[in-house]
Amino acid sequence: MLRPPSPKYDVAIIGAGLSGLAAGIRLAHFGKRVCIFERHNAVGGLNGFYSLDGRKYDVGLHAVTNFVPQGVRGTPLGKILRQLRIEREQFALCPQKGSRVAFGPRGECVLRFSNDFALLESEVVSRFPAQADGFRRIARFVREAPLMGAGSGASARGYIREAVSDPLLEDMLLCALMFYGSAREDDMDLDQFTIMFRALFLEGFARPFEGVRVMMRVLLAKYREAGGERRMKCGVRRIVAQAGRAAALVLDSGEEITASHVLSSIGAAETAALLGEPPQPGRTLGYVETISVLDRPPSALGWGDDTIVFFNDSERFSYRNPAEQVDPRSGVICFPNNFDYGAGRELPEGFFRVTCLANYDRWARLPEERYRADKTRWFGEIQESAKRFLPALAPGDALERAIVARDMFTPTTVERYTGHFRGAIYGAAVKARDGRTALSNLYLCGTDQGMLGIVGSMLSGISMANGHILKAPAPEP
Ligand SMILES: Cc1cc2nc3c(=O)[nH]c(=O)nc-3n(C[C@H](O)[C@H](O)[C@H](O)COP(=O)(O)OP(=O)(O)OC[C@H]3O[C@@H](n4cnc5c(N)ncnc54)[C@H](O)[C@@H]3O)c2cc1C
Repeated sequence: MLRPPSPKYDVAIIGAGLSGLAAGIRLAHFGKRVCIFERHNAVGGLNGFYSLDGRKYDVGLHAVTNFVPQGVRGTPLGKILRQLRIEREQFALCPQKGSRVAFGPRGECVLRFSNDFALLESEVVSRFPAQADGFRRIARFVREAPLMGAGSGASARGYIREAVSDPLLEDMLLCALMFYGSAREDDMDLDQFTIMFRALFLEGFARPFEGVRVMMRVLLAKYREAGGERRMKCGVRRIVAQAGRAAALVLDSGEEITASHVLSSIGAAETAALLGEPPQPGRTLGYVETISVLDRPPSALGWGDDTIVFFNDSERFSYRNPAEQVDPRSGVICFPNNFDYGAGRELPEGFFRVTCLANYDRWARLPEERYRADKTRWFGEIQESAKRFLPALAPGDALERAIVARDMFTPTTVERYTGHFRGAIYGAAVKARDGRTALSNLYLCGTDQGMLGIVGSMLSGISMANGHILKAPAPEP
């Protein structure tokens, strides 16, 4: 009897972002014949980098979260390094100087935090003394929670309100955690809350001096050494389903590929679309980011040493799809200069990045000329809004004079370059924590599996590779 031809690969991975690369390394280390298919000519996806007028910009790196010093055990960063066989020094992570959450029309109410949780704890005790016990209870709960929750869908707000009664503290904590990893409007999944509370407050922020490309180089070298294959500018156009399995991948070129297992890092709805399924709802939150390159470090402008500032000017913090193109009332300021790179080591230029919530539909329907004009207008408004939360500059527009280059992206930019529908950086509001899909050999990893961010997405790739493929029984003949 004729047997069908063997699949070409043990595993085909769709997407060369951080989750796809981490999964690929893990699988190749275990002798799997694995190939990553990436639609673009660069790796990294939401956390890649690009060149513009001779300058390199990180796409999505504000800060690597989950940073812990050498020797701290049982943490996501340690697990990633161990499972990918990467030496800690290779990522060259330098710790943050210090960050804060600033609320009020001029950011009068402040909670400072750093990579030492004791700072945030002492800030809460001094500004919200009546809430200190409740806050400590939350921290204890997070410490005892598993690194990856099962995704109960429970409300983080509901949980916080059982522990602390001051809505200002509730909003200040949620503002930081939501901006760095919630796809749900005005609330968070409780599991996601524990993941992010650990990532930002119990652990902390770091950054390689040269940005995310340092991490990309390490991951690519590891993948190559382990024998992994990679096909760039080689998108997957369709997944052919047969008898409940992913039988083949059809590439943009029309070529057909077969693999025993398929791991998709592109998102749940995006993967479903490759199967011909209709678009799924549930992607509401988009973001804009402005990037100003300065001729001096931000501290020389008089802005101090903040690494990240989460801000909000309104009485209650609103984390919703804005009615306007942008909601500049709240956001995130990032100063990549303000990490502790070591004595005398300074980035050659200053960077001032601001992220705000944005409405995809309001950007997507604009004709090109209007789109450009609106970007210019919002660029100014976003930076003006953010400046209220920083020390006042000298009279005259010192910032305008210091800017040597600028860039800005909107939800449509994110959609164009990463394929995420509606430019939804954090994907769908409801996650597929077990990574399973309707097809028995097709799994999700990355954003829509539920682990977000740089460390989270790598952990997702590793966990899905381990759980579904390396421990999986041999595929059916
Ligand atoms: C502005 C911004 C700021 C951020 N800041 C931080 C931060 O400070 N700290 C942090 O930890 N995280 C941050 N993040 C989040 C982090 O970057 C992401 O959570 C993470 O990179 C997601 O990785 P992923 O592998 O899940 O998905 P992705 O990076 O989206 O990877 C998916 C890949 O699949 C490719 N692809 C899509 N469709 C196809 C197809 N049909 N065929 C082939 N390939 C395809 C895409 O091109 C992409 O390369 C930020 C993100 C952004 C955008």
